[in-house]
Amino acid sequence: MSTTHRVALVGATGRMGLELSRALLGAPDLELVAAVAADADGRTLGQHHGLPGLPVTLVASPERIDTDFDVLIDFSRPEPALVSAGLCADRGAALVTGTTGLEPAQQEALDGHAGRIALCQAANFSIGVNVSLALAARAAELLDADYDVEIIEAHHRHKVDAPSGTALALGRAVAASRGRRLPDDGVFSRHGDTGPRPAGSIGFATVRGGDIVGEHTVLFAGPGETVELRHRATNRGNFASGALRAARWLVGRTPGRYTMAQVLGLDAA
Ligand code: NAD
Repeated sequence: MSTTHRVALVGATGRMGLELSRALLGAPDLELVAAVAADADGRTLGQHHGLPGLPVTLVASPERIDTDFDVLIDFSRPEPALVSAGLCADRGAALVTGTTGLEPAQQEALDGHAGRIALCQAANFSIGVNVSLALAARAAELLDADYDVEIIEAHHRHKVDAPSGTALALGRAVAASRGRRLPDDGVFSRHGDTGPRPAGSIGFATVRGGDIVGEHTVLFAGPGETVELRHRATNRGNFASGALRAARWLVGRTPGRYTMAQVLGLDAA
């Protein structure tokens, strides 16, 4: 017999909120029972997004959720993310959060809640990116130090930081599987008289332009051959699919922190 999990969505009217709303409409095993957004105006989430279905009335803060739920999915801002974590702890629900930009004290507060809730926090919920992280680590292990690693990423013209968090995560995965640390091996810019490439370094190159959603390539350049591992996001739907997968997996787990690698069974791969 299949089970339906009750979902509360925080950040429901944002860019990710829209993707999650679409994904929830296509997930019969997940029932949206509460939706939170700062711009709640008495309408339902379906009315807000112009989507049929989703008859849940938006409320302005997680504390105003007056119904039971099994898992809360949060893609909002650090403050409501923390309120969501406290609420999950009080209600015995699981928490999936993709909200970024937490200050160290806020991260510490969220970590504090992990003793009381099943928590999956990830800077990138894309299933393909998480598989790419595992593949990059494995490739770095199989291709020895004769294979130089370069990480090339491309994003839209509005992105304000470089390299992307995902490029850095790929670099960390490669460095760790070679028993190294990215802060020691990363080369983040080259200009002018650079000298030859330091052995064992991990180079980063950044492209910015247009409306590129996000592309990451890990290049292994060895003697007489190259191997490229490439991920290309075409829309935000991939984050939503990953978040729903985490939500299904998390319900009923004992309190603690869980990673997307665990959700996807990549730890054992
Ligand atoms: P957005 O600005 O489009 O939407 C933010 C949502 O949060 C809105 O619904 C807004 O009303 C709500 N909100 C803001 N402050 C609130 C408050 N005080 N109380 C209640 N609701 C509040 O942002 P977005 O692009 O949807 O991204 C949301 C978050 O998710 C960001 O932190 C972003 O970096 C992160 N993100 C993570 C991933 C991932 O895979 N981990 C992917 C995409 C985005």
